[in-house]
Amino acid sequence: MPTAPRSPAPARLTVLSGPSGVGKGTVVAEVRRRYPEVWVSVSVTTRRARAGEVDGVHYHFVDDAEFDRLVAEDGLLEWAEYAGNRYGTPAAPVRERLATGAPALLEIELQGARQVRARDAGAQLVFLAPPSWAELKSRLAGRGSEPPAVQERRLAIAQAELDAAGEFDVVVVNDDVARAADELVSLLAAPSSETTGA
Ligand code: 5GP
Repeated sequence: MPTAPRSPAPARLTVLSGPSGVGKGTVVAEVRRRYPEVWVSVSVTTRRARAGEVDGVHYHFVDDAEFDRLVAEDGLLEWAEYAGNRYGTPAAPVRERLATGAPALLEIELQGARQVRARDAGAQLVFLAPPSWAELKSRLAGRGSEPPAVQERRLAIAQAELDAAGEFDVVVVNDDVARAADELVSLLAAPSSETTGA
């Protein structure tokens, strides 16, 4: 018997967040590489492109005036300032994607994750955790050659960020990038118990 066409139920928005240095970008790069069908939001940022970054692929690189305009017209689902630059999630592509019934993934820092939670009770918040505090310390220390005072400050921030794990729905441990990517992808399709209103 033919069934009447129905518009798909809105899918779930999943947010990957976690402390600096935990490897969020690496895990999402692995997801993109092995699961090209997974839709990942492209953020806008006022930071300059790093070598190898492509406008429209890794970020939409914008100036301050353009970012101000997006904020003023409520074009961002969330935004935050991080290390002197602003970052935000363009709202329209996420809404359009979810309306097709397919999941969407954001990779953002903690302030942004909290804003998404406040706006969309059905969003799934995933916290990427280091295998241990010692491991995170060594990853942060290995990132550059900052003076000890700067490293201490980054460690203090990372400790506070680790404390935020309790606000999240799921914790994924980044003990192995490929394994963490698989776990994240399996979570994307998990059904939502609440209505997604992003
Ligand atoms: P990076 O400059 O290293 O690419 O990113 C710095 C931080 O900004 C990372 O923690 C990354 O997850 C976060 N970030 C990237 N895009 C967004 C965004 O759209 N919103 C928020 N709140 N954070 C973002």
